[in-house]
Amino acid sequence: MVNGSRKHILVAGGAGFLGSHLCDALLSEGAHVVALDSLLTGRRQNLRHLEREPRFDLVESDVIQPIPARLRSKKPKFDQIYNLACAASPPHYQAFPEHTMLTSVVGTRNLLTLAEELGARFFLASTSEIYGDPEVHPQKESYWGNVNPTGPRACYDEGKRAAETLTYDFDRSARADVRVARIFNTYGPRMRADDGRVVSNVICQALSGEDITIYGDGSQTRSFCYVSDLIEGFMRLMAFEGKFPGAVNLGNPLELTVFDLASRVLAMTASTSGIITKPLPVDDPRRRRPDISRAVELLKWTPSTSLERGLEETIKWFSDERSREGASART
Ligand code: NAD
Ligand code: UDP
Repeated sequence: MVNGSRKHILVAGGAGFLGSHLCDALLSEGAHVVALDSLLTGRRQNLRHLEREPRFDLVESDVIQPIPARLRSKKPKFDQIYNLACAASPPHYQAFPEHTMLTSVVGTRNLLTLAEELGARFFLASTSEIYGDPEVHPQKESYWGNVNPTGPRACYDEGKRAAETLTYDFDRSARADVRVARIFNTYGPRMRADDGRVVSNVICQALSGEDITIYGDGSQTRSFCYVSDLIEGFMRLMAFEGKFPGAVNLGNPLELTVFDLASRVLAMTASTSGIITKPLPVDDPRRRRPDISRAVELLKWTPSTSLERGLEETIKWFSDERSREGASART
């Protein structure tokens, strides 16, 4: 047990891909959990299995708005606040860029202020995107990054950089006890089929026999972490005692090209899909791999799920989803 039982925990963004897995993991440790989510990109169905769980509640609200009074005055009060609220897929966060930026800035400030009021420990889900298109490889936490502040990804990248700044300022002035995770590309069950990220796109295309879309020549790299490994890292970081060590990279250092990922999925699904190329999106990072030595040293954390096993689980989940959708369309 990493977080201790009977804690009262707020998970902003709890109806999303990562947030719903975090809620499950916290509940399985005996915690009481409230998910706060606007359902912008999250889904009730990610939490449907918790509908009868007495230690769980979902509150629908936008973190840009004042935090609902019933959460501020809840007894017992929250011991921990996780801030995962923010669309994470490029097409989704770029669809409402101003809202994305405000979610990271105003939303994070609202949640930090709540943490200060309650004396709760605060966790920020930051991102490898704060390194932008990195000139240093692999990326260590000490790297300041190479972000285009005016491009189409800036609403997300600069928003998260500002969220980190606010979080460090609350720490420096001893207003909140904080933890910051810089999350690298993560995949697994409950990603949305229309998410637009490469893992969900490639798997859904392979399963349906549609052409696989590779942006650019497919030689750009990413390092993909399976969701359960990442959630374990979140909880270890939140449970870490001692002075705030600065941000901690969480991700799987196994780096591969997008083309290699697509080829593996095609082989694993025995798909007949072809491959087509599309233009590389503006400011798309050329390469990305975490240096996780800080997480290994401080948290004794390393990802343990192989890419093959993680992809198997994710392919199975998307395949089951397709069957469920097919069955409900027939009734
Ligand atoms: P997701 O889109 O599935 O989840 C985000 C959740 O936040 C959704 O449930 C959404 O409805 C909610 N949300 C968005 N804006 C909100 C607002 N203003 N108020 C309240 N709720 C809001 O994405 P995810 O992949 O689960 O990512 C979760 C967090 O992790 C995000 O903060 C993201 O930036 C970060 N992250 C994820 C990855 C990844 O690979 N999945 C990588 C780096 C960082
Ligand atoms: N990508 C791709 N085909 C797709 C979706 C994405 O080739 O259908 C590429 C994208 O351009 C990027 C990489 O895959 O180089 C990872 O994209 P994703 O959106 O998953 O994550 P991010 O760019 O935020 O790391």
